[in-house]
Amino acid sequence: MVDYDVVIAGAGSAGSITAYTLAKRGHSVLLVDRKSREMIGFKTCGDALGAHHLRTLADLIQLPSVPRDVIEYDVNGIDLIAPDMEHRFRMAGPTTNGYSFNRHKFGQWLVGLAEQAGAQVMASTRVKGLVLEGGKVAGVKIRSENSDADRVVRAHIIVDATGATGMLRRQLPEGTPVERTIEKIDQMVAWRDVYETPEYTFETPDILEIYWNQEKTLGGYTWVFPQGPHRVNVGLGYMMLPGHKTPKEVFDDFVRSTWDFMKTDLVTLDSSGGIAPVRRPIDTMVDDNFMLVGDAACQVNPVHGGGIGSSMLGGAHAGIVASEALERGDTSIESLWDYNPRYMQSYGIKQASLDIFRWFLLNVTNEDINFAFKKEIIKGSDLLAVSMTGKMDIGKGEKFRRLVAGLGKIPLLMRINKVAKLMEDIKAVYADYPGSPKGLPAWRERLWPIYEEAKRT
Ligand SMILES: Cc1cc2nc3c(=O)[nH]c(=O)nc-3n(C[C@H](O)[C@H](O)[C@H](O)COP(=O)(O)OP(=O)(O)OC[C@H]3O[C@@H](n4cnc5c(N)ncnc54)[C@H](O)[C@@H]3O)c2cc1C
Repeated sequence: MVDYDVVIAGAGSAGSITAYTLAKRGHSVLLVDRKSREMIGFKTCGDALGAHHLRTLADLIQLPSVPRDVIEYDVNGIDLIAPDMEHRFRMAGPTTNGYSFNRHKFGQWLVGLAEQAGAQVMASTRVKGLVLEGGKVAGVKIRSENSDADRVVRAHIIVDATGATGMLRRQLPEGTPVERTIEKIDQMVAWRDVYETPEYTFETPDILEIYWNQEKTLGGYTWVFPQGPHRVNVGLGYMMLPGHKTPKEVFDDFVRSTWDFMKTDLVTLDSSGGIAPVRRPIDTMVDDNFMLVGDAACQVNPVHGGGIGSSMLGGAHAGIVASEALERGDTSIESLWDYNPRYMQSYGIKQASLDIFRWFLLNVTNEDINFAFKKEIIKGSDLLAVSMTGKMDIGKGEKFRRLVAGLGKIPLLMRINKVAKLMEDIKAVYADYPGSPKGLPAWRERLWPIYEEAKRT
């Protein structure tokens, strides 16, 4: 006997969209979150989202338009700034249009959509663990804030949407094909504040700014995302390497002393840290009666760390495939498998190639980046193309080759060419994602050599 068709742990962007998709198709859904109903959606975030994600979701699951009061400001471009802070490129075009929004209100809107579609939302309730029967997932243990006893809820499918902790993923039984742990080097640690700036005016609040500096934020960046002329979301994130200062320490040392607006009187609206997984998606995001969505499935862009849009995309695909499996009365790994290739095709393949590019970025110096910006051997449009499509055309032109060779940067040129090739290689492997769980071990064997080589670039 089950209590619900599907129980979803976590009502963030991924869990709420999974619930919305399934409830709209008539399935019984329980959406559980440890936060109070009013606090769902409150999260440490840069609060920026590309409009293209919302267009895709409107087509895929008929997601309604974002209400205007959720949006703080329209975004029309992103400036990338070199470590010397003198050279910058603007990325502007259909894929950089988007929104700076109120993250809390956005989350409230999403969970409200799931509720209106018929999902039952149980807030202030912690999911404590998986319930296994015959070695397979059969339910979850939950405990409400006002209760002193655990309760077991059974469902045909359990969805882990608990964010970067992936707390249910980590409890899967021995022998699961799902990777239960995420390496530290595959996680970005971050700190960010949101301020009102009564004494400082952002002249171009529709342009987001990303500052690279390998000495301060290795493999990551500092962002200054205005949310209007007198409001800003400012933060930094970098790869979690042993011995590095905490993000709060780097923020206090570096950000406070570097940006002019930080030296004016500020009204702090929020100040907190967070973690995001920045790698390719989990190799399989399903097991018997079990699915993963959002950060719990590593559905984050490895280069810019954006994961709101892709977590919603993951939730939509998971919801559609779960619905089809429930209709068939079969929620085995084989029956849920189709979620993997669907997500890989729509976004995972891009993540996989950007994961290669991330390793390259981890190995370049401030001097390399300053050089590339100064000599204009990398343009904003190139980087936009890399981060949006996962395709690397930088370094292919004869002019580029002559310029770099003439300036004595041949090793850099060779590395760029090698990275471009590895990115294409990994995309070919992902285009051949296995059609069933049986093919997974052999497919994985093809991934390792490419990533190992990428780490050495
Ligand atoms: C500092 C920072 C800045 C970022 N900036 C951006 C940005 O500007 N744009 C962008 O697109 N992405 C950004 N991201 C990434 C983005 O925020 C995430 O990828 C996205 O929110 C993932 O959604 P999710 O639903 O998977 O997880 P979450 O939003 O983390 O939701 C998980 C939910 O699960 C609940 N939960 C957790 N454990 C339990 C439990 N045991 N029981 C019950 N409930 C539980 C939590 O309360 C939460 O509501 C940023 C991330 C960080 C850390």
